[in-house]
Amino acid sequence: MTTFENAYQIILNEIKPLGFENVKIENALNRILASDVISDIDMPPFNKSAMDGFACRREDISNELTFIETIAAGDIPKKTVEKNQCAKIMTGAMVPDGADIVIMVEQTECINGNKIRFNGSETANNIAYKAEDIKKGDIVLKKGQALKPQHISILASVGCHNPEVVKQPCVGVISTGIELVEPTEIPMTSQIRNSNAYQLINQIKNTNAIPIYYGIAKDDEAETEVIIDKAISECDVVILTGGVSMGDFDFIPGILKKKNVNILFQKLKVKPGKPTVFGTIGSKYIFGLPGNPVSSFIMFEMLVKPLLLGVMGNNFTIPYIYMPLERDFLRKKADRILFAPVKFNKNGMLEFVEYHGSAHIHSLCDADGIVIIPIGVTKIKRGEMLHVRQI
Ligand code: AMP
Ligand code: MG
Repeated sequence: MTTFENAYQIILNEIKPLGFENVKIENALNRILASDVISDIDMPPFNKSAMDGFACRREDISNELTFIETIAAGDIPKKTVEKNQCAKIMTGAMVPDGADIVIMVEQTECINGNKIRFNGSETANNIAYKAEDIKKGDIVLKKGQALKPQHISILASVGCHNPEVVKQPCVGVISTGIELVEPTEIPMTSQIRNSNAYQLINQIKNTNAIPIYYGIAKDDEAETEVIIDKAISECDVVILTGGVSMGDFDFIPGILKKKNVNILFQKLKVKPGKPTVFGTIGSKYIFGLPGNPVSSFIMFEMLVKPLLLGVMGNNFTIPYIYMPLERDFLRKKADRILFAPVKFNKNGMLEFVEYHGSAHIHSLCDADGIVIIPIGVTKIKRGEMLHVRQI
C-alpha cells in the first residue's frame, strides 16, 4: 500500500503542463498565465490629482490664490502655476507644472470671482505621482498566476487584452456499476442514483478544467473497455468511479492493466479512499476512484485536483489551515491516514460532523473542511492543532 504522501508526490512528478493559447481578457477568469506580463506604461502615467480641488504651490497655501484655469480629467494643462496662483483641478486630471500640492475643494473658500483661500489646518499633497505604482517595463503579473478579477484589471491597464494562458485539460468522467441509474430515473429496490458523476463534473468545473461525461458503464468488461477507449482518445485525464475494490465485478484495475496503463499506485493507506488507482498512458492520466461518494469526493480534492491544477500550470500550494479541535478524539486503529469532514464552530475550533461512513454524502454538505489525522495518531486532545483542507 502506498502512503498518501508518496501518492501525492507520484502525482506531482507526473505533472506536465499542457500547451498555451491566447484568450480575450473577458474570457480569462480563472485561467493561468503562461508568461510574465510586462507593463508598457508608467502607472500613474503622469502626476495625477487624487482630489477635486486647486493645484498650487505648498509655500503659497496661506495666501490668497488667483485662479488661472480649469483642468478636467483628460485635459493637458495649458499654464504653469506661478506664485500665488492656482488651477481648479478634477480627480484624475494632470497636475500642472509649477504646482506641488492639490488642496481639496472642501478646504477652500471663494473670496471673489477669481480668488480662493485655503481654510483647512493641514493637508496632504493629494497627488498620485508618475510611476509610483508601476514603472514601464516592470513585471506586473507572473507566469503561473491564476487570474482573478483584480488581476484581469491589471491586464487591462497594461494593454494585455489577449493574455497567453495554459490550455484547460478535458477531463472524462465515467461512472461504473450495474446498480446505477441517472438522477432522472426512479431507482428500483436494488438500484442507486448516480451521484458521483455530477459531483465530479462540478469538482472538475471548480478547478476550471473541462468535464466531459461518458455515462454509466454497467459492470461489463467489454462495454467498459469501449467507453474507456473513447474517453482516453478524447480527453487529457479520465476519471472512473466504482469498480476499483475487491468485489467480483471490480474490473477496472484489470482493464487498465490490459490496456497497458502504467499503474503508479493502486491501494492507498488512507481512509476513506483506499482502493484509489492512478496511472498514465502516453501523455494521458487515469484515475479510478472508489464508488462511495465521500471517498470519491475526498480523493478528488486530495489527489485529482492537484494534478488538474498542475497541468494547467497553476503555481499552487495546497491551502491547509491549522485549527484547534473542540473535543477529544479517539480511534482504535491508526494504520491509515484519516480524512474526516469537520466544520468550523463559533469558537473558531474544529468539530467533527455526523459521519456514518463513506456513503454518507450529507456529511459533506455540513462540512467546511476535511481534517487530516496522520497514521499512528489514536488520540487527540481538545485544543490540539490539526491541518484542515477547506472544501
Ligand atoms: P464500488 O466501488 O463499485 O464497489 O462501489 C462502492 C459503493 O459505492 C456501492 O455501494 C455503490 O453502489 C456506490 N456507488 C458506486 N458508484 C456510484 C455512483 N456513481 N454514485 C453513487 N454511488 C455509487
Ligand atoms: Mg461497483
